[in-house]
Amino acid sequence: MKLAQPLQVLIDELLKLPTIGPKSAQRLAMFILKLSDDEARQLAFSIIDAKRKVFPCPICGYLTELSPCLICTDPHRDDTLLCITEGVSDVMAIERTGFNGRYFVLNKEFTLLKGSDIEQIDVKTLQEQIAKGAVQEVLLALNPDIDGEVLARYLARVIAPYGVKVTRLAHGLPVGGDIEYTDEITLKKAIEGRKEF
Ligand SMILES: [Zn+2]
Repeated sequence: MKLAQPLQVLIDELLKLPTIGPKSAQRLAMFILKLSDDEARQLAFSIIDAKRKVFPCPICGYLTELSPCLICTDPHRDDTLLCITEGVSDVMAIERTGFNGRYFVLNKEFTLLKGSDIEQIDVKTLQEQIAKGAVQEVLLALNPDIDGEVLARYLARVIAPYGVKVTRLAHGLPVGGDIEYTDEITLKKAIEGRKEF
């Protein structure tokens, strides 16, 4: 069956989104077609607006519309504790636990099995952060999988010359799981029980 061309284009675009398969794309497209003109315009505008105004914070890498971001400029945060995460979604998950330190987001998909080169990870900004002197502990909040393990060892080596304490999340996170999908109680316990690396 041939679909109306604009509808097919919409479905094809939705199909490009992560976790969206053909059935979901079709369902979303149908939902969008039922929106009022105003709602549809608002949806389209929100995509363009977020794309245009949101960027990674130059200090921590968290997504922001202000430079630096609200976490970096928050005076009530603990400057001595720096948490390193692989992605922005990990920060969102860790924030839900009430963590009050600062962050450094790698914003890099490092996949050992796909042959990513670990040296490509930009550690210069991280080193600059630590070199400022306030940081006393770096918490490696990396995913509990092989890539996270390799990444942790690499970062620990990069941080070693600065003489700060390096810790990692306690065991208890599901192995091979993602921090961003871990419930906040488990994650909070993993942060509280963090171990020296
Ligand atoms: Zn920031």
